[in-house]
Amino acid sequence: MKIFVLNCGSSSLKFQLIETDNEQLVVKGLVERIGASDAILNYKPVGKESVSQTREIPNHETALSLVLDLLCDPIHGVIHDLSEIGGAGHRLVHGGEEFVESVLIDSAVKDGVRRCIQFAPLHNPHNLKGVEVCEQLMPGVPQVGVFDTAFHHTLPTKAYMYGLPMSLYRKHRIRRYGFHGTSHAYVAKKAAEYLGRPITELKIITCHLGNGASVTAIDKGDSVETSMGFTPLEGLVMGTRCGDVDPALIPYIAKIEDLSTEQVDALLNKKSGMLGLTEKTNDFREIEEEAENGDPVCIQALEIFCHRLKKYIGAYMTVLGGLDALVFTAGIGERSPYVRGLTCRNLEAFGIGIDGAKNKKNEFDISTGTVKVLVVPTNEELAIARETQRVLLAQR
Ligand code: ADP
Repeated sequence: MKIFVLNCGSSSLKFQLIETDNEQLVVKGLVERIGASDAILNYKPVGKESVSQTREIPNHETALSLVLDLLCDPIHGVIHDLSEIGGAGHRLVHGGEEFVESVLIDSAVKDGVRRCIQFAPLHNPHNLKGVEVCEQLMPGVPQVGVFDTAFHHTLPTKAYMYGLPMSLYRKHRIRRYGFHGTSHAYVAKKAAEYLGRPITELKIITCHLGNGASVTAIDKGDSVETSMGFTPLEGLVMGTRCGDVDPALIPYIAKIEDLSTEQVDALLNKKSGMLGLTEKTNDFREIEEEAENGDPVCIQALEIFCHRLKKYIGAYMTVLGGLDALVFTAGIGERSPYVRGLTCRNLEAFGIGIDGAKNKKNEFDISTGTVKVLVVPTNEELAIARETQRVLLAQR
């Protein structure tokens, strides 16, 4: 079955067409700067010439319609007709407490996703836009929503509740939700396959380290702790997000810097993290290069990043009561020997050791101790395609 996977942002549309029978990628691409006169469309069919255009793309409708035309194009196309697409799978960021698994999208589901906009105002409206545009331009193709939060629905109450008045949970559902669930679930499954043991026997910690970053403790296949909370701001130091800070700082910074709550929110989300610490960049390639050339600011920023990550790994080992596998994934996790090396330093007493040469080459298994330390490439699109197919087959 061919599944069209979509990740729709405020000004971007990321897509892949995946043949689930052999799990092969057919086309991938990205439309960026939607709304601008110089929007960019990149379309890469496997085994055929890529298409790259810079042109006016006023809205998501036009963006998707250009992509669908290319999919069926006599020269660049990979299908004859849109009816060859068995389903569309959407990455939906926040499912709140309503959505604990992937669902076939109908009007009731759209209403539910709309109710969750309050939890993810920067993501859910655009995700929903993607759904509506697909309904319009691919009528008859069933659509499935795959939620970033769903994998974490197994968090126990003691892990998801904040120490705040209960009434805030009762009235507003203020609690920890967790994100990157599709990726954490995917790489944990890969780790279990590699270990040759059922996931239901394993204790795994997965570190998804991209621009946004989170750690999850997985016990017997269930997420039992995760570092992101009510929003993706909690937890690790990230590219531009601060992660955990003393909450008393929020009114304090607002007062001494004379900022509105919106401005403090922007400071914490967009001007902090590695960007704020280096006062230069949030690109780890650049930060590591500078650190390797001896730049003390970049060395310090990486130490702060890895120290926070190490604290979470230690905490999650105690939550799990042991550890079989520590998994690194996403842009930084998959490609940064520096971050993996520094994070795992001095953990031999806990069974975590890494082979320097294997780490340098980003090999899959870099462990020397009793805990398997694995570098597992994530593939959220494939995970969404699998989920979409599973939901569609269950409907039949
Ligand atoms: P997202 O999907 O959250 O935008 P990615 O998973 O693509 O993020 O990861 C982006 C991060 O990965 C960036 O900080 C980038 O600098 C980092 N990255 C990419 N390649 C490398 C590399 N070779 N070494 C270190 N970091 C890298």
